Amino acid sequence: MSYISKLKLELAQTEDTLSKQIRESTKLEQRIAELEKENQELKTPSITLIKKGKLHYAEDGGDPVCPNCYKNKHKVFNMSNVMDMVFTCPECNTKITNV
Ligand SMILES: [Zn+2]
Repeated sequence: MSYISKLKLELAQTEDTLSKQIRESTKLEQRIAELEKENQELKTPSITLIKKGKLHYAEDGGDPVCPNCYKNKHKVFNMSNVMDMVFTCPECNTKITNV
């Protein structure tokens, strides 16, 4: 086999390997996108907020949930009352006075 023929063969093999790797990489990118989507869905709890007075609670009780964060970011943050009737969200600093 001539030197040129050997080079052509090697080039063809390299091209083949490269295209296989590109296909594999595309598959992995698709898989990553799927997993990222799934992960995002898992991080986003879907709860029913129950309104009691001016405050919103999750069905399973506990501290009041910030309606602002749930509505805008789909995240659950429990509000705490540092002062008697004022509940504050640790995330967006929304204050709700429960009177
Ligand atoms: Zn908030």
